[in-house]
Amino acid sequence: MAIAFPAALSRAVRALRLSERIGALPNIASERTRALAPRIRAKKTVVSVCPYCAVGCSTLAVVSDEGKLLDVEGNSASPISAGHLCPKGAASFGLTVNEARWTTVRYRAPRATEWEEKPLDWALDRIARNFRDSRERTFVRANAEGKRLNHTLGIASLGGATFGVEENYLLQKLLKSCGVVSVENQARI
Ligand code: SF4
Repeated sequence: MAIAFPAALSRAVRALRLSERIGALPNIASERTRALAPRIRAKKTVVSVCPYCAVGCSTLAVVSDEGKLLDVEGNSASPISAGHLCPKGAASFGLTVNEARWTTVRYRAPRATEWEEKPLDWALDRIARNFRDSRERTFVRANAEGKRLNHTLGIASLGGATFGVEENYLLQKLLKSCGVVSVENQARI
């Protein structure tokens, strides 16, 4: 008399056989292939948020036991994005882990065709000097009718999408106190 397996059990047996062989021959796999494992297997997952725009899609950051970021993916539990990320958010892993990313200051002088590597202090001094010179050259204390303005239209600030609330707050404080009115902060939550 034939014994009827429950459907789920027979499906599991079929899947097991498939992983060992397809057709008459056993599946071929090298030792190296057998030793491969997904890079995010059995790691810690931390709920996070995409850093790029004010939609605020939730992400899952997968980290190793040593705290190294291994992957970033959409969080399906998010009521905003339900696990979806736009191309920018889907690439947010590369924001922090990217071997091609420059980590030193590069400077291209006016009319030069090559980039030079410069120390960070040099760059900060140069930015501060140019900022001060531009402000002094373009600062307007009052208009023709004598109305007080105390502003400069010679400097503008373009925000970065990865700025946080605190960074944007400080940026606004600094620029507005210097009379800069053209300030764009990429919206962030
Ligand atoms: S950049 Fe894309 S993934 Fe990130 S919060 Fe905005 S819409 Fe969501």
